Amino acid sequence: MSETRHNWTKEEILAIYNKPLMELLYEAATIHRERHDPNVVQVSTLLSVKTGGCSEDCGYCPQAARYHTDIEGNDLMSVKQVKAQALRAKSGGSSRVCMGAAWRNVKDGEEFDQVLEMVRTINKLDMEVCCTLGMLTENQAKRLAEAGLYAYNHNLDSSEEYYKEVISTRGFQDRLDTIENVRKTNVTVCSGGIIGMGENLEDRAGMLVALSTLNPQPESTPINALVAVEGTPLEDEKPVSIWEMIRMVATTRIVMPETQVRLSAGRTQMTREGQAMCFFAGANSIFAGDKLLTTPNPDVNEDMEMFAVLGLEPQKPFTKKVQPQTVEAQDSEFESLGEKPKWTRPEHTIERNEAAKEKAKALK
Ligand code: SF4
Repeated sequence: MSETRHNWTKEEILAIYNKPLMELLYEAATIHRERHDPNVVQVSTLLSVKTGGCSEDCGYCPQAARYHTDIEGNDLMSVKQVKAQALRAKSGGSSRVCMGAAWRNVKDGEEFDQVLEMVRTINKLDMEVCCTLGMLTENQAKRLAEAGLYAYNHNLDSSEEYYKEVISTRGFQDRLDTIENVRKTNVTVCSGGIIGMGENLEDRAGMLVALSTLNPQPESTPINALVAVEGTPLEDEKPVSIWEMIRMVATTRIVMPETQVRLSAGRTQMTREGQAMCFFAGANSIFAGDKLLTTPNPDVNEDMEMFAVLGLEPQKPFTKKVQPQTVEAQDSEFESLGEKPKWTRPEHTIERNEAAKEKAKALK
């Protein structure tokens, strides 16, 4: 079996990415078969539990309050609503629910307590629970772990160098610090990025260096293709080709052999044949449901039809790691510290982000 390395260099990763495609696919598929069942793909459901109105300036995101997009914002969902959605997802074949809130960082208080209750509720439905809530302190990570959280998603988005061209309201190191806080618990790490934001191949390789040199490597890595949304700074970016997606998935599989590689945003632009090649190249998870937070996604029936055509089976929950125990709120060992952590605000100027903000102001 191939070893898991934590010392990949950008040059090595670029050389893998640029191999002749058939060689790249063969190598990735071989590694994939050593570590995973190639006919099993996890189906996860992404649920936006609090949409829009975010204070950050991520250039790809329609939920940033400063840009003018068609997104309808909503306050934090109730635990009851979340439970109903989770049950629906479970009956559609999902084994994991990922709850996303458009927050810069988690703030202690009622809303976080409500999210903790959502985690307890979904874990009790015997589904893997993932959250993506922004930056997180160690105590907050421990409280989520205690509630029964299985995974925390916190994407690095791109290389450290290109990150500065997309986001100015927080630094790359803040991302790494949050991942480190999650690693102080038994919660698994989900971290990946987006291609098609105008980055070059070196940036794609740079992102994979940052992810693969983490020790341990993330248990899960979403590879997203940008969905360019009107009103965001990246609205004019051209869609990535399926070949770029296949190369990115295959390269991720080779440098992170044990990781669950997630085919994420951008699937509506892919044919079934294209997705099949991504699965062959090592992707072993998809997000189900007609929306991915706010952008379109194939519906569950279409996905199940594709699974039938390809002979794929949805992965059962807790296949890779045992189910965490849920500790009830009244028995909790960790209390709310009322923390107000100071995450960085580099606030350098990104011209296209500024232009999108000005355009939004003019439209108001
Ligand atoms: S990606 Fe997350 S942090 Fe960035 S603007 Fe969107 S919701 Fe906010």
